[in-house]
Amino acid sequence: MSDSAAKLSIIELQNDYRSGKRTPSEAVSDIIEAIKLKDQDVGAYLSFDPEMALEEATNADINLPLGGVPIAIKDLINVKGQPCTCASRFLDSAYTSTYDATVITKLRQAGAIPLGRTNMDEFAMGSSTENSGLRSASNPWDLDRVPGGSSGGSAICVSNDTAIAALGSDTGGSIRQPASFCGCVGLKPTYGRVSRYGLVAFASSLDQIGPMTKTSEDAALLLSVISGSDSRDSTALTDEVPDYGSNLTGDIEGLRIGLPKEYFNEGIDAEVRACVDEAISHLENLGAKIVDVSLPHTEYAIATYYIIATAEASANLARFDGVRYGNRTPEPKDILEHYRLSRASGFGDEVKRRIILGTYVLSSGYNDAYYVRAQKVRTLIREDFAAAFKLADVIISPTAPTPAFKSGEKSSDPLQMYLADIFTIAANLAGICGASTPCGNVQVENGITMPVGLQVLGPHLSEGTVLRVTDAFEKTTDWHRLRPPNP
Ligand code: GLN
Repeated sequence: MSDSAAKLSIIELQNDYRSGKRTPSEAVSDIIEAIKLKDQDVGAYLSFDPEMALEEATNADINLPLGGVPIAIKDLINVKGQPCTCASRFLDSAYTSTYDATVITKLRQAGAIPLGRTNMDEFAMGSSTENSGLRSASNPWDLDRVPGGSSGGSAICVSNDTAIAALGSDTGGSIRQPASFCGCVGLKPTYGRVSRYGLVAFASSLDQIGPMTKTSEDAALLLSVISGSDSRDSTALTDEVPDYGSNLTGDIEGLRIGLPKEYFNEGIDAEVRACVDEAISHLENLGAKIVDVSLPHTEYAIATYYIIATAEASANLARFDGVRYGNRTPEPKDILEHYRLSRASGFGDEVKRRIILGTYVLSSGYNDAYYVRAQKVRTLIREDFAAAFKLADVIISPTAPTPAFKSGEKSSDPLQMYLADIFTIAANLAGICGASTPCGNVQVENGITMPVGLQVLGPHLSEGTVLRVTDAFEKTTDWHRLRPPNP
């Protein structure tokens, strides 16, 4: 185990391939071994197909950009011939993908091996993976705590060394927040940077697929592969895809870092605050300039997000009617009962709550009061960021106000769960990009420490700058190297 490939980053693995130290087949075997040994306790994976992965490894071409590199895939991205459960009873065992999502096509063209489907909140609705309808998940740093969500499984397997890297999706923080809770790097690209074709839609105007990795170097490499225009997704941007790796110079001299005054308030856990303050001083020592900025509509962000996201979800999830995909009630007496029973038995509580909320805010009597008004506030939030980015190149905050919380602590109170999304959701409303990288470890109980994430937000299509900052931080600190205390 000590020399297991599962512990490596993408770049380290590629170096081993190219120097002849190990082969893709050996690396895939190591990962399968690590999953068998460690996944039982943490529940990162919903399924994996060792034979298929080993077969693909045998044929891997290590000269391709991601040749022979196994990547774990959140279970809401279609991979032909594999399940795509969205962690929902609705799709479990009743649906097999008939096509590859565009990100999967791009990964395959680059030589990567999709290996394993990762656990998540059902249909990506949640912040703790407690809403998984199929398997409970735990934070590898403390099994009594949540891994974050909704891409909890992807964050667990990357930080727990049962994957080299993973893909997640982020609608309101679902890449960045679990990365922060588990101690890995997570990047939400600019809206449209990565095609959504083949991603099961939650809230189509907010969803983005992105990398979850051990380093920002790896995130840059993975992002360069999965980004780009797509004739199958009209919202995918046609802007040229840079080689993000070439941005990682380590030099942030003169870069202006904005601290939004609305984010640094009493809502942040004191120890998280201390880690982030220290990270800011560290970046200042590396030559960055700190400036104050304001995002005046921050207090409306959560309400705005939970109106728009649920409205879009209620429309998107209408397709799960028991006719076309997945769960189907056995003997309905008429078509209405068919819909009603198929949906009632297939969806979990949080998904039902969102569908009901979303249907309500779109209903004719309330559309203007909620949905239309939320769209207007969304514009104000976008304008807040545009004004702040005139003064600052990037904006920094904690990724989440607290370290990972205990399982069950917030699950009975959806509002408390929603409020904890305060630092991540505005980026999705504004369509900008952002990353989380580990910036500390705080003691939460006797002998138990949990990772803390630093969030770096940047304007549209500034992924290169955001990654330059997180990479400069990683090059001069060791927080991202810490691993959970495995038995
Ligand atoms: N926690 C947020 C929610 O529950 C964000 C989820 C996500 O980004 N998919 O909606």
